[in-house]
Amino acid sequence: MKHLENKVALVTGGSRGMGAAIVKRLAAAGADVAFTYVSSAARAQELAAAVATNTGQKVIAIAADSASHLAVAQAVEDTVARLGGIDILVNNAGIYGEPPVGEQSADDYDRVMDINVKAVYIAAITAARYMKTGSRIISIGSNMADHVAGQGAILYSMSKSSLIGMTKGMARDLGPRDITVNLIQPGPVDTDMNPADGPYAQAQLARLALSHYGSTDDIASLVNFLAGKESRFITGAAITIDGGSNA
Ligand code: NDP
Repeated sequence: MKHLENKVALVTGGSRGMGAAIVKRLAAAGADVAFTYVSSAARAQELAAAVATNTGQKVIAIAADSASHLAVAQAVEDTVARLGGIDILVNNAGIYGEPPVGEQSADDYDRVMDINVKAVYIAAITAARYMKTGSRIISIGSNMADHVAGQGAILYSMSKSSLIGMTKGMARDLGPRDITVNLIQPGPVDTDMNPADGPYAQAQLARLALSHYGSTDDIASLVNFLAGKESRFITGAAITIDGGSNA
């Protein structure tokens, strides 16, 4: 028996990058999977069809912009309605990038915090209403919550460190129901957001203990572990997976 058989997962931002690798891994482990996207409609539909064919699981793509808390809550409701429940929530969707500090405004703050924090919180509290004993809430933060190594990441770092507090608080509130809540804090992972051959790659590589970027599969492996039974005593944790960048 596959270890996530009879489980339903929702992955936000599953059309590309880490999210797509997580969708594939959870379905391969036996879960039915819903995932959200915002702009890559064709790519999302292709991924859903391919993963469903390869795994035999139900896989559905839901258009839901994390900038709208109503859309995020609706994505959770749609998952429950279409797949019969929700056992695993993976808050993966996030954005990076902000104007220079002298040009920043409240609108920049709102955009980053709405997508990187508010959507995570709304998805978690909505999913928690439906979750049974043994369910999992896993969010993707960043190692920049703990150490900001360069300029241009005020809002991003602030947003990702907020997830540490949310994870700890929610772990306390949901612990009595045996629902675990954890945060994964990646370092450089080769995606469209942070290509391993991009203009900022060399500076990031220089900070690593290892000599290479992480892959999306490295992150999906940790999600897969946290989603399953073997991680049952881990909750309220922020787990850094960054090739030693913050070491
Ligand atoms: P990518 O930019 O490569 O992919 C982002 C994914 O999120 C896409 O599927 C995209 O959908 C979706 N997405 C983006 N904005 C929204 C939105 N407003 N609503 C719904 N979905 C959205 O990112 P990564 O895979 O690199 O990053 C995934 C997570 O990991 C993020 O939270 C990021 O902050 C974090 N992270 C990344 C690191 C890295 O080095 N790559 C390091 C540390 C943390 P669509 O295709 O429709 O645009």
